[in-house]
Amino acid sequence: MVEGFQRSKDPRLGPGSLWVSTPIPAHRALTNAGQGKASRVLFSLMLHSNDRSPVVFPSRDVIGKFSDVGKDSITESIKVLEKFGFIKVRKIKTGRTYRNEYEILRACWHWNEFNRYASRYKMPKGHCTKCGCWVYANGWVIEGRSDRLASIRIRVHRNCGGRIKDLTKKQMLIVRKMEESGEVPMPY
Ligand SMILES: [Zn+2]
Repeated sequence: MVEGFQRSKDPRLGPGSLWVSTPIPAHRALTNAGQGKASRVLFSLMLHSNDRSPVVFPSRDVIGKFSDVGKDSITESIKVLEKFGFIKVRKIKTGRTYRNEYEILRACWHWNEFNRYASRYKMPKGHCTKCGCWVYANGWVIEGRSDRLASIRIRVHRNCGGRIKDLTKKQMLIVRKMEESGEVPMPY
């Protein structure tokens, strides 16, 4: 049992319940990075974890089943999770074959323990429909607008007042490429 471990006080999680502690920072960062498949693979790893050991070893078939991610994408997703510092993978020899062991790391639950790479995705990004820049969450403000039917909240670019939309998948890939090549300074 991990030191300092406490049973949940949530009355829905009493005796007989079965649950895991889903790491919110990790899932948020992966979503911000457009890595939905890696997020689902992490979810399927978490489903096999408990409070006694950080190491899980579901087969690739089982990971595929619980994440609905295809074989090739599982390999890719595992690499993403390693790069973000969310898991550590070890190859264990069993007879003539190898199986993977996955250690789910502390950083998954702690924003301030993110590595350099994962830190880039602490904040969601959007793009400004007016000036075309891509903008971090601290670069926009939320404004309430209302018409006769309803009041809505929209995101507005601090610099130019343009409306912010979510990045498309394609824009996200371009941004990631720029960040990885060092063309764009990191926000932290
Ligand atoms: Zn703008």
